[in-house]
Amino acid sequence: MHRSEITIDLGAIRDNARRLLDVLDGAELWAVVKANGYGHGASDVARAALSAGATALCVATVDEGLELRQGEPDARILIMGPPNDPRDVAAARDARLELVVSGGEIPDDIPVHLKLDTGMGRWGLSELPEPPANVVGLMSHLATSDSDPAFVQQQVERFTEATAPHAHLTRHLANSAAALRLPGTRFDAARCGIALYGISAFGTDPAEDGLRPALSWRSRLAQVHLLHPGESTGYGRRFVAERPTWVGIVPVGYEDGFRRDMTGTEVLVDGERRRAVGTVSMDAVAVELDPELPVGTPVTIIGDGVLIESHAAVAGTIGYEIACGINAGSARARRIVHD
Ligand SMILES: *Cc1c(COP(=O)(O)O)cnc(C)c1O
Repeated sequence: MHRSEITIDLGAIRDNARRLLDVLDGAELWAVVKANGYGHGASDVARAALSAGATALCVATVDEGLELRQGEPDARILIMGPPNDPRDVAAARDARLELVVSGGEIPDDIPVHLKLDTGMGRWGLSELPEPPANVVGLMSHLATSDSDPAFVQQQVERFTEATAPHAHLTRHLANSAAALRLPGTRFDAARCGIALYGISAFGTDPAEDGLRPALSWRSRLAQVHLLHPGESTGYGRRFVAERPTWVGIVPVGYEDGFRRDMTGTEVLVDGERRRAVGTVSMDAVAVELDPELPVGTPVTIIGDGVLIESHAAVAGTIGYEIACGINAGSARARRIVHD
């Protein structure tokens, strides 16, 4: 018996891809599907994004690229992180992947993108060498696209200046936040992840940017009981009833991605917003009910208007981390994909 149900709506992924293509105004959309498609399922998302007009896929590691290649024999697949050892490079070559080089030697016989550090201060070359013939792209990554447009402008200027002599190569800089709101960052292609999933890069309602969430997560009340005044629910007795209080137990916990710091967040119980109370445990979380509801009552943790962004705000994190933490691969959850 599954304890919860995760639904992925590929129609939303396609709509979000089209929305991004619209704002990109001629630049290519490259779909970022690292981390198993931000928890959504990389191969499903890749297929949907390509069918809606994305022209390449981006992942972080060669292993992710090899796995993706099995379902996508023809797509361009770009490995954004550095290869870990020479075997990675050989495997990438065999699988017709494209590599990003941000230091060390430039491997030959494989399409390469040179990554310039323009202000992220992480991976990246401090200066661009004369690109050998197998270099197909020039890229950089923005540090503040969701928060500081003035710093973005500095990065754009550095990138423009350094890459101007090689403008025949594909230049790509923007992520989702930049693609959506900072037209000057678009160049030839944008690498978009979070927006594709219908999650806001800004922590706001994704509808503000014309996006809709693709993932919903539902469960049911597995147990319902009345707490008398002074009685508590969960570890540490962090929720103590002040008056007679009905609580429902939902059979998901931090193992599934309902994080401990999501206490206090709201979910829908029978369509009404209810608060998660007490300490979230590995396999269970309590919700305050008013009035009593029967065992089996539907609970929506994400979806039907409950946004990942509001859980992220309660947990003091970003939607990315909540999405990646949802254990869609777990046998405890049933995963349903709507084509
Ligand atoms: C993850 C990643 C992206 C996508 O960022 P979003 O904010 O999810 O759009 C783009 N570029 C690089 C280098 C990345 O690592």
